Amino acid sequence: MTPAASALIRADVRSLTTYTVADARGLIKLDAMECPFPMDGELRREWLDQLRQVELNRYPDPLARELRAKLYDALGVPGGMAMVLGNGSDELIQLLLMVLDGRDRCVLAPTPSFVMYGHIARILGWRFVGVPLNPDFSLNGQRMADVIRAERPACIFLASPNNPTGNLLAREAVERVIEATDGLVVIDEAYFLYAGESWLDRLQDYEHVLIMRTMSKQGLAGLRLGVLIGRPGWLDQIDKARLPYNIGSLNQASACFALSHRQVFEHQAAIVCREREREYAAMQSLPLRAVYPSRANFILFRTEAGRAADIEQGLRNSGILIRNLAGTDPMLDDCLRVTVGAPWENRRFLSALGQGLSVPPTEK
Ligand SMILES: *Cc1c(COP(=O)(O)O)cnc(C)c1O
Repeated sequence: MTPAASALIRADVRSLTTYTVADARGLIKLDAMECPFPMDGELRREWLDQLRQVELNRYPDPLARELRAKLYDALGVPGGMAMVLGNGSDELIQLLLMVLDGRDRCVLAPTPSFVMYGHIARILGWRFVGVPLNPDFSLNGQRMADVIRAERPACIFLASPNNPTGNLLAREAVERVIEATDGLVVIDEAYFLYAGESWLDRLQDYEHVLIMRTMSKQGLAGLRLGVLIGRPGWLDQIDKARLPYNIGSLNQASACFALSHRQVFEHQAAIVCREREREYAAMQSLPLRAVYPSRANFILFRTEAGRAADIEQGLRNSGILIRNLAGTDPMLDDCLRVTVGAPWENRRFLSALGQGLSVPPTEK
């Protein structure tokens, strides 16, 4: 590109890095918190029967009425609350940050947390402020309240359970954040199915809190469906930024089908939770500096100093892809994150990890 052409792109965008995803072809994929179970034969046939009835020559229902009715029921959305659907929760974060005013303010989240909060905020021209979690990754309510007073954020994102740390945020600390701010607070419950704890029933208590859910982590990552729930006063405005047909007909039909078979996905999540506890216990006996307790479908762990990259590479050589977080946040030095997969995948992971840890780095 010529300098003149390149100057057409905003300087702050040019200085950002692209969000990239590792190539997982041929590997056991334990890097992205997907549910490991594909839809099985009978269920898959029923799903395809539904898709056959979709009229692809027509635009999708812009209001996704059938899907929204099913979601109200399935999620137990409190009466009087509204809902906006997004192409994944990523799109909902984007829509929200598009309509919020106050460019002299900022977007704030604890760190380390979900990287898309900062990435989307910056792309949309917001200043992003990260507030470090405590060393055990719990939310520091006092520190958050202090920074909130100094920075006056327009919007605060709280993921609970948090990604990539796996822990739930304590109720008292979250309440402290909600009470300290006059900005909007989004509680991101992407891992609700694995944690079973929600703020949905507290929505009535607060004027300025929204809840975000997604179907990505519960067996439907390919679908791209996120849900934002809260008072109509907020959601009616956010809905104006949504492109009218953002949820395609195939996605609407597939999501309706999945919600009609919720118990299948809940059963899969229960298997993953059992596996998580087994895997966590097994990892305790490995020579790792820390294995962090998780209420989500992944486990964060810390290797001996400087070993994360070679352990990740060793696993990759054994055909297993996990995520190396070293270098992404000062609190994540030597940290790796593994998604809890199917039982056979977890066995393979534990065995390969055990082998990798038993080889001193100099002999490799
Ligand atoms: C994975 C994840 C999401 C999901 O984003 P989608 O766009 O719905 O796939 C949202 N929030 C957190 C904290 C996550 O870890």
